[in-house]
Amino acid sequence: MLLLLPVFCVAADFQNFRADPKRIEERIRELSKFGANPEGGVSRVAFSDADVEGRKYIRSLMEKAGLKVRVDTAGNIIGHREGRDPKLPVILFGSHADSVPHGGNYDGALGVLGALECIEILNQQNFLTAHPLEVIVFSDEEGGLTGSHAAVGELSQQALQIKSHSGKTIGEGIRFIGGDPDDLQSAKRTPAEILAYFELHIEQGGILEVEKINIGVVEGIVGINVWDVTVLGFANHAGTTPMNQRKDALLAAARLVESVNHIAKSIPGRQVATVGMIHAEPGAANVIPGKVVMSLEIRDLEKSKIDLVFEKVKKSAEKIATDTGTTISFAALDVTAVPAPTDPRLRKIIQEAATGLGLTTKLMPSGAGHDAQDIARIAPIGMIFVPSVGGISHSPKEFTTVSDMTNGASVLTQAILKLDEKGL
Ligand SMILES: [Zn+2]
Repeated sequence: MLLLLPVFCVAADFQNFRADPKRIEERIRELSKFGANPEGGVSRVAFSDADVEGRKYIRSLMEKAGLKVRVDTAGNIIGHREGRDPKLPVILFGSHADSVPHGGNYDGALGVLGALECIEILNQQNFLTAHPLEVIVFSDEEGGLTGSHAAVGELSQQALQIKSHSGKTIGEGIRFIGGDPDDLQSAKRTPAEILAYFELHIEQGGILEVEKINIGVVEGIVGINVWDVTVLGFANHAGTTPMNQRKDALLAAARLVESVNHIAKSIPGRQVATVGMIHAEPGAANVIPGKVVMSLEIRDLEKSKIDLVFEKVKKSAEKIATDTGTTISFAALDVTAVPAPTDPRLRKIIQEAATGLGLTTKLMPSGAGHDAQDIARIAPIGMIFVPSVGGISHSPKEFTTVSDMTNGASVLTQAILKLDEKGL
């Protein structure tokens, strides 16, 4: 007599749990239709009609895969799959479906469709994990990590007033996609309900491709500090003021730009420092600039490294100010992101999952921000990177091969299975 019992595979069998390249390619192509731009990418900015259409498509895939779907009050789409033990915390994984204006087809989309691919694989293999699984599509990632801010209870009332690229305020946008900005508390998740969060994402840089590595195991998401730097000199006649009597704010600023670059390179490590904006006043060919306002941005995985670079920049600025007869002041902007390290246990699980599939790996930081950095405040996070061709991102030229996307989704699936089996 043949007994049909649910099959609970042993670990060795997980080798067959692999992503389907055709399905991934087709779904990436389908999702790219929503907000398609003439350059071949997407402009699917959060809270636009295209965003709503894209979300509808993803939701339909979730429902077809048997997930119980809900939209929380922050507009995050959550698809739930029961586990063998409903009392266990969920394994959460996903990314975002919105893009920057004139963006590409892979940023965020891969993480969402890769997460769905994991569900498809489990369905095909008729496998029920011990932990409940949840696929999450965070709302408005590109506009300021709106959905993940809300998930950790840190979406401020002030943020709701900010106008998004869609033309709607974030508050209006949340309502537009089915959320309720008046009840954001309900979107808040607790540490007890989440075992871990995984996010699969394109690298958005060129390291993996150049080094011919399959999978990036993310060490953490860098912290970002930004300052407004004001250089005050004295605006005067460019023809009548001798060179040795000038207080040229732009000259001082130029020296500081050079110095910022030099300092960031002179310290061992992977810190980066950038002056990306500069404005000189009064801004005329025949006037010595009296005032310059410029930006300073420093990123690193360690807060202490950011502090170290900034201290050196400040010291250098003092000397430049003395030499040029100017004053230089720094005002910290309130756009700071603290470094979010990934969980070492999850890094190891991702590493083993990739190695088990015969893929090469590299430990690397994420220089770009992700929803995972918010979730790190309430749960251990793990991030998987796959190569971006040419290191291009936030552009219609953004591209990741089907084979790399498939690898990423397979690693995600294997990592989830390993975590489910062994716990943390
Ligand atoms: Zn992204």
